Amino acid sequence: MAAEKVKTRAIIWFRRDLRISDHPALLAAIEAADEIVPLFIMDEKIASNSGSNRRAYLSASLQSLDRSLGEKLLVISGEPISVLKDVMSRYGANSVHVSADYTPYGVARDAKVIASGIELTQTGSPYAVAPGRVRKSDETPYRVYTPFYRAWCTHGWRAPAAKPLNIKAAEPLAGDRNFPEWNSEFEISAGEKVALERWQEFHSKNLDSYDENRNFAGIDGTSRLSAHLRWGEIHPRTLLAKLGESKAHDVFRKEIAWREFYADVLHHNPHTTWDYYVPRFKEMRYDEPDSKFNAWCEGKTGYPYVDAAMRQLVQTGWMHNRTRMVVASFLVKDLHLEWQHGARFFSQHLIDFDVASNSHGWQWTAGCGTDASPYYRVFNPIEQGKRFDAEGDYIRKYVPELSHLSAAEIHEPWLYLDGYSNGYVERVVDHAAERIESLARLAEIKADKPQDPRA
Ligand SMILES: Cc1cc2nc3c(=O)[nH]c(=O)nc-3n(C[C@H](O)[C@H](O)[C@H](O)COP(=O)(O)OP(=O)(O)OC[C@H]3O[C@@H](n4cnc5c(N)ncnc54)[C@H](O)[C@@H]3O)c2cc1C
Repeated sequence: MAAEKVKTRAIIWFRRDLRISDHPALLAAIEAADEIVPLFIMDEKIASNSGSNRRAYLSASLQSLDRSLGEKLLVISGEPISVLKDVMSRYGANSVHVSADYTPYGVARDAKVIASGIELTQTGSPYAVAPGRVRKSDETPYRVYTPFYRAWCTHGWRAPAAKPLNIKAAEPLAGDRNFPEWNSEFEISAGEKVALERWQEFHSKNLDSYDENRNFAGIDGTSRLSAHLRWGEIHPRTLLAKLGESKAHDVFRKEIAWREFYADVLHHNPHTTWDYYVPRFKEMRYDEPDSKFNAWCEGKTGYPYVDAAMRQLVQTGWMHNRTRMVVASFLVKDLHLEWQHGARFFSQHLIDFDVASNSHGWQWTAGCGTDASPYYRVFNPIEQGKRFDAEGDYIRKYVPELSHLSAAEIHEPWLYLDGYSNGYVERVVDHAAERIESLARLAEIKADKPQDPRA
């Protein structure tokens, strides 16, 4: 009787790509062996740096991925090299497939894995165009978004990859399915199925009015795909493939490109994870976090639009882009704190926390990033509220102490006799005075013209 042929096995190590559709690395693993060994490594460093919302999201997303894989996903805690070596030996796998990770942490981790002798086959990335690919004619990276966007469009991207028809995965061994049980205080909808449904819903209902509605925090005018993109439950290529040439579709494509631009910038400047892109801003006079910072964190600054946004973040794990800019400006320019204090708070609460978009979203608003807002742009939290939440619905939703006020009153409760009758807090600072102070501090470092980050 002929001996049974030994099955070949390839590990597919999932990281920021928790899906099975449009997944070139998964296809490469399937192609490479008779069976795949799907693995998620619960790297302690990632787990300990994530806030409870993000941990709960990851937990739900892993469950969803596991269902797509016929309950064959291995979830093992530990240091990646030793987990990979152990799984390779116990499952008889001789190759490891991944989507390339471009975060500074991921790049360093993968370099160590390769240096340990493990052959890591990298196919695809979490981006339509991998960071580092789009370059100026002199081969240097772009520092400004708009020309990057043009070059990115010209470079183009591949069509979505096919969904595997049949996934043959190795039977998990006992003790290898250690799914975390992390819960959040609010309901979490995670996973590829939810991401694809959300995309379809947004595409059919809101995409055509995206250009008009995307700035209004009180309405459901944006895709809400950020956490799904962050965890790779959907690939940006899948979105881009369904966009046409209308203005609304183009504006949406441009937002996807901001994500790619910031990933590219961080790839070329890994130190900007927590450090200044334009170093001169390090020299500016800043205050130390005190009770005013606590008020910002708690949504108790006395500025209704800022407070609604901060409470949205803490209560839901997400914040609208317009208000992310407003609260970031408030922290840096009204409270005179370094952007990293705010970025760190965001990292603890945002489900969609992405190191590139967060650090550079903060630095753009603070004026020390790429393509920075002009130094004199200090978001006025009152006018922003009046313009982008004219009826006050967003404020009323998150700041019930102000729900008795009309649309005309809600943005400036201090002007009305009953403005504080339901216990709303008084302003921690005077915006007009702090704006002048902020400009004075900027003048001291002569931030009065576009700056070269190499200066
Ligand atoms: C201070 C600050 C911090 C931020 N931190 C993060 C973060 O940690 N993670 C994150 O994903 N986004 C971050 N952003 C960008 C942006 O606010 C969110 O991507 C957006 O609000 C997510 O909502 P949405 O999916 O409905 O976006 P949509 O308006 O539907 O946009 C579609 C997608 O495009 C991308 N995108 C949109 N705007 C931006 C942008 N300005 N920069 C980068 N990508 C963008 C996102 O992936 C988003 O899901 C930050 C912005 C600022 C100003």
